[in-house]
Amino acid sequence: MIPVVALVGRPNVGKSTLFNRFTRSRDALVANFPGLTRDRQYGQAEHGEYKFIVIDTGGITGDEQGIDEEMAKQSLLAIDEADVVMFMVDARAGVTAADQLLAEYLRKQEKKVYLVANKIDGIDADSAVAELYSLALGEIHQIAASHGRGVTALLEKTLLPL
Ligand code: GDP
Ligand code: MG
Repeated sequence: MIPVVALVGRPNVGKSTLFNRFTRSRDALVANFPGLTRDRQYGQAEHGEYKFIVIDTGGITGDEQGIDEEMAKQSLLAIDEADVVMFMVDARAGVTAADQLLAEYLRKQEKKVYLVANKIDGIDADSAVAELYSLALGEIHQIAASHGRGVTALLEKTLLPL
């Protein structure tokens, strides 16, 4: 069975950028406006030997109201639908309250959850991600979605090749 991978995390951490890299499509909007993807987007992903369905989500901030509430709801539905959850954080932003809330929620799910630190290009990644261990989700997978760095390694650790 083809696995379903959900990309979740705060707005602006790079979920849609990674979605686009996996699907090579323009289906998910990528922009500098936090929260532009308002609901779930599904894509057929092919990356080397890996094939999967990928779900992009609008993001969870932890203090949702109105449209944000709908985005958060869609993210929770995506987590439900997924076999594998990639919890994306911004390696440059440190741990935020929203990251802690989502981590707490994900630790309670009976799902494979992988912590992905994005935007490691041009920074001292190892020291930037050190505080992410406090999210207690184990190994930190470092990537730069916009450059493709670490993306193949991430799939090697999270999925089985077809
Ligand atoms: P989303 O809200 O989580 O879907 O985030 P987006 O994919 O829309 O990306 C938000 C911003 O981060 C955009 O300006 C992207 O170009 C930028 N971005 C995404 N991935 C990377 C990365 O690996 N490195 C850097 N430096 N910027 C990135
Ligand atoms: Mg997006």
